[in-house]
Amino acid sequence: MPDDDAHAGDLLEIIPLGAGSEVGRSCVIARYKQKTLMFDCGIHPGYAGLASLPYFDEIDLADVDALFVTHFHLDHCAAVPFLCGRTDFNGRIFMTHPTKAIYHMLMQDFCRLLKNQEPSEQLFGEKDLEASMKKIEVIDFHQEVDVDGVKVTPYRAGHVLGACMFNVDIGGLRVLYTGDYSRIADRHLPAADVPAIPPHVVIVESTYGVSPHSPREEREIRFTEKVQTILRRGGRVLLPVVALGRAQELLLILEDFWAQNPDLQRVPIYQASALARKAMTIYQTYINVLNSDMKAAFEEANPFVFNHVKHVSKSSELDDVGPCVVLATPSMLQSGLSRELFESWCEDPKNGVIIADFAVQGTLAREILSDVNKIIARDGRELQLNMSVDAISFSAHADYPQTQAFLDALAPPHVILVHGEAGEMGRLKRALDNKAAADDKKMSVYTPKNCQPVEIIHKGERIAKITGLLAEQEIEEGDHVAGVLVQKDFGTMLIAPEDVNNYTKLRTSLVTQRQLVPSKIPISTLRFALEALFEGLHVVSTLAPEEDEEEEEDAEEEANKPAAKKKAAPKKKATTSRAKKAKTEPSEVEAREGEDKFDVDKADGLSINDGMVTIRKRFADEITGVEHVVIEWNSDPLTDMIVDATLSAILQLESEPEALKEAEAGLRDAIKKKDETSAEKWRLRVVAAMLSAQFGELKVNEKKATLSLNIDGIDAVLEYRTRTVLCDNDALKQRVETTVSRIDEAIGDAAYAHAVHSLSASSTKFA
Ligand SMILES: [Zn+2]
Ligand SMILES: [Zn+2]
Repeated sequence: MPDDDAHAGDLLEIIPLGAGSEVGRSCVIARYKQKTLMFDCGIHPGYAGLASLPYFDEIDLADVDALFVTHFHLDHCAAVPFLCGRTDFNGRIFMTHPTKAIYHMLMQDFCRLLKNQEPSEQLFGEKDLEASMKKIEVIDFHQEVDVDGVKVTPYRAGHVLGACMFNVDIGGLRVLYTGDYSRIADRHLPAADVPAIPPHVVIVESTYGVSPHSPREEREIRFTEKVQTILRRGGRVLLPVVALGRAQELLLILEDFWAQNPDLQRVPIYQASALARKAMTIYQTYINVLNSDMKAAFEEANPFVFNHVKHVSKSSELDDVGPCVVLATPSMLQSGLSRELFESWCEDPKNGVIIADFAVQGTLAREILSDVNKIIARDGRELQLNMSVDAISFSAHADYPQTQAFLDALAPPHVILVHGEAGEMGRLKRALDNKAAADDKKMSVYTPKNCQPVEIIHKGERIAKITGLLAEQEIEEGDHVAGVLVQKDFGTMLIAPEDVNNYTKLRTSLVTQRQLVPSKIPISTLRFALEALFEGLHVVSTLAPEEDEEEEEDAEEEANKPAAKKKAAPKKKATTSRAKKAKTEPSEVEAREGEDKFDVDKADGLSINDGMVTIRKRFADEITGVEHVVIEWNSDPLTDMIVDATLSAILQLESEPEALKEAEAGLRDAIKKKDETSAEKWRLRVVAAMLSAQFGELKVNEKKATLSLNIDGIDAVLEYRTRTVLCDNDALKQRVETTVSRIDEAIGDAAYAHAVHSLSASSTKFA
């Protein structure tokens, strides 16, 4: 679980819309870095109509970027036509070649079955199926495809023809979705691959939980022995199967067994599915996907052309007179021919049914495996279940040893179990947890229910490629590089702002702002106010007169003023500290003094942060008719803020009472004339004017240098020379003291102090 929103960008969300603690309607959503991917989109064979669909309402289907379908089994693909034709889904769809071909064939058959159902139960029609066919893009095993920035690679999954696992790389996060897979090669398919690059998250089927399969040879012997037993007692063998997949495997076993046992050859084997026969064409087309034994066999003869198997499409074509073997669909006995034969054969104890697939909860196939002796026929009759019922699994799903070995090889930090019943999933989780603990490996195993999100924080490495102008300079480890960070798909590049036009579709523009403010405030006063305002945040310095106005200045003069050469040269140190420094380092004073004299006498304006904002003094001209300052800056949020503060400082200075302006002018004049006594007198007047601006009228005793205030009936006296405040009310006393120290800070600082060095001694006397 994420602890805060700061992780939002690193959050991987996995939500099963189906196959969460159940088998059926596989549909798993993975969300990461604004990408939404869907794996599989099937129906649940235990339900009908809308109830058989995944929980599509849980998410906004319009957000899904792509759907990856692992194989053609209905619990993995049968909801695709509904998704395409009846929802807001507008993403891309991917399948392997054989999956797409067989999907089309199976779904046409499915549409025909749907037509017999109540209109309300009809999920979709041919039109929706054809619409989905147009959308489905095919993808090859082991071929990496870029799907809108997500790198997708299908791996072989075994299981059925064309079945694949999908490995997706979303911005460096690798998720492997296995679908149904088998690590054991069978008669016609190779085993599943183990991806070379280990994924961070594996979403894996858990159908068989902790049960191990017996070896294939053993199962084949049990199966053929069982078939033989039933036939020898004069019974009929019913093999309910999915038309494609396991049916082909069972036929290959039976064909082989019949060839070895001539006495059986008089017993017919029926494959009651027109579809399976048609699908053989597809199997033959995709020989390259079959295992190497099959490929070799194909070179001699088509191994899917059976000598002992008869194809029929309806029950009437069955010669139902005695012992026979019938492979009929569907595998879960819900309806169709397998159900029809089951109902007519189940009361005879000579007959037998062998369930070779995984029996899904909620189906008749599952029900008869649980020791029942009666079943209800589709027409409501009660039937005795006397025939033998056996389960010999040939479903090509991984068992516990396969799952364990597969996860050991990949060692993912996160494993999400799907496609398994809650009980099996729980047992598998405990077994995997115990194994990881015993091996001292860190692996979290999750068993989400439908619609229950699994949230994983994945912090991928962020690598930014330095491109363009920035790449021209040599950069060493530890260097700071500044530029514009541009994200494209999942890659990031760092470029110079000048390169934005070259490497992105963005366009840059610079807005230079200029504002004219009527003001008579001398530049030195403004500088003092701004320095106090921006102290420690922004550097305020004086600007040389503009060059076109300096034409009379000769070269020699120019040479003597190094500071004047550089326009808007910043003063990096606060003036007060410079004054102190000047006292201790006399050799430096000369140069500094020259610069300072220039500042005060010829300054034309101010610069904030080395030209970020310039403020120039202008006298009344024909256009404006008034004395004013021109503020110029390149608009951006920070600079705009500085300008706002500057403007309010100017306006505040403009609105100062006349007495204060007069006192300030007097003080400046005294400082200029180096008249210490007079400066001290004006300084007191400045303090008086500022205090009165805050606290109202007050009395000044210039001789004693005291100021008497009366605030809300309480008297307070400031003895300015010693900065002592006499007052009975502590709170008020403190307020006055604080204000006085602020005023001192302001007028003892900057413009006043640095202009005349001799005064710095007298100001420190009081400090
Ligand atoms: Zn399957
Ligand atoms: Zn499945």
